[in-house]
Amino acid sequence: MGLVQRGAGRGEGAETDAVLGEAAPERLHGKTKCSMLAQAMNGKNAQFAPLEALPPGALVHLDVVQVSEGSSTPLFGLDTAALAARMIEAGEPTWRGRQLAEAIYRQRVADVGSITTLPKALRERLAAEGWQMGRPRIIQVFQSVDGTERYLVQGHDGAAQTVETVWMPEGDEGESGDGSEEAAEGREPEAATGAGKSWSRATICVSSQVGCAVNCQFCLTAKLGLQRNLSAGEIAGQVVAVFDRHSVEVGRDRVNLVFMGMGEPFLNYDNFMASVRLLVQEVGLSPQRMTVSTSGIVPGIERFAQEPPEFRPKLAISLNAPNDEVRAEIMPINRKWPIEAVVEAVRGIRLRPRERITFEYVLLGGVTDRPEHAKEVARLVRRTGLPAKVNLIAWNPGPGIPYAMPQPDAVERFRRTLAGEGVPTYLRRPRGRDIYAACGQLKRTVEGDSRV
Ligand code: SAH
Ligand code: SF4
Repeated sequence: MGLVQRGAGRGEGAETDAVLGEAAPERLHGKTKCSMLAQAMNGKNAQFAPLEALPPGALVHLDVVQVSEGSSTPLFGLDTAALAARMIEAGEPTWRGRQLAEAIYRQRVADVGSITTLPKALRERLAAEGWQMGRPRIIQVFQSVDGTERYLVQGHDGAAQTVETVWMPEGDEGESGDGSEEAAEGREPEAATGAGKSWSRATICVSSQVGCAVNCQFCLTAKLGLQRNLSAGEIAGQVVAVFDRHSVEVGRDRVNLVFMGMGEPFLNYDNFMASVRLLVQEVGLSPQRMTVSTSGIVPGIERFAQEPPEFRPKLAISLNAPNDEVRAEIMPINRKWPIEAVVEAVRGIRLRPRERITFEYVLLGGVTDRPEHAKEVARLVRRTGLPAKVNLIAWNPGPGIPYAMPQPDAVERFRRTLAGEGVPTYLRRPRGRDIYAACGQLKRTVEGDSRV
């Protein structure tokens, strides 16, 4: 049975048909938000084939993997020390913990029975005792014509609410909060990617919660409210599942992570940071290739400032407005933590050499995109005294959200004004727009929810 999803038209006014294979109808309302995927109005839209010119089947492919895990204890999400403790409890030597961690996070072995470094009898015993790998799995894949992929990822035990993750080969053309400025500056990537791969660098946009409690007025995710926090394993597992799909070789391939999917990472602080430690310590990634974005949760930023540099990603702040008055209107959280309080907390971070704070700025037509706003933002950024850059994101519309997209010339003028004032400024280019891969549009289906 082939099901057809009719997506809401955006920007160019196109309506998109997507063939969704065998998926259950209640799963079909997924929209993607990823801050890396803004539909930037930068005149580069021509690189995309017009949506209406493409046959529907070309827009989205869908793989559905049946998940049949029963109730069990997941190993994925435990670090080496915790795995070792479990092994000791099971009467095994400590080093079995290291062996397990190696298999789970480095070799990315999919199930306990396939960990061939463990004796067969031990594998069988672990399985009989209810131990399972429990690694989050990709259960649906949406592919864009530009190579971007959006995934629904299911946690251990087939958690009812799946998570959204986005893969963007070739990053998003350099600077965009993905931590990499190399492409933007025309530099060659440091390391060559493994032969046979169609990409030389990539960015993965990771979710930290299902839904979000912060209630930014322009964001579709906010409409869900907070459904639940993701566990450390579910956050890190998104990355490992995507690595597996694209045969990413850690230490060789250049992959950046941005925690800019669904949710507010600093309102799920402990799990978020535990996932970073897993990704650094167990998977082997550098925190300097990770960027976390926050709406400005001051206690979270203060804790973040205390993290040791070896486990601290780079930071992006969703500024989104030129002053407290406008910001409080579009981001009610500003009434609790106004701009200066956020900036003061950010000043507490000991930045690495050449590290900069990213200020993300969503351009809302007529609301935050006026020329005087650009001047005000430049003054604000300079006043912070922080080494900083600004990432401009043209607002992506969503149903029931009463804002307008900015005019392309307003976006360009804004960019030029900021840059002219000496503020390093970047505009995100659109990625994956044919699969609803646009910032602020990720309102993943809550199963059974048809409010989209
Ligand atoms: N909750 C965190 C991270 C996820 S949101 C945060 O707010 O920072 C990531 C980025 O997407 C934020 O900068 C946010 O301002 C932006 N965003 C949200 N909705 C958007 C929309 N409709 N169009 C463009 N950007 C949007
Ligand atoms: Fe939450 Fe970020 Fe959306 Fe605000 S912009 S509602 S903080 S996900």
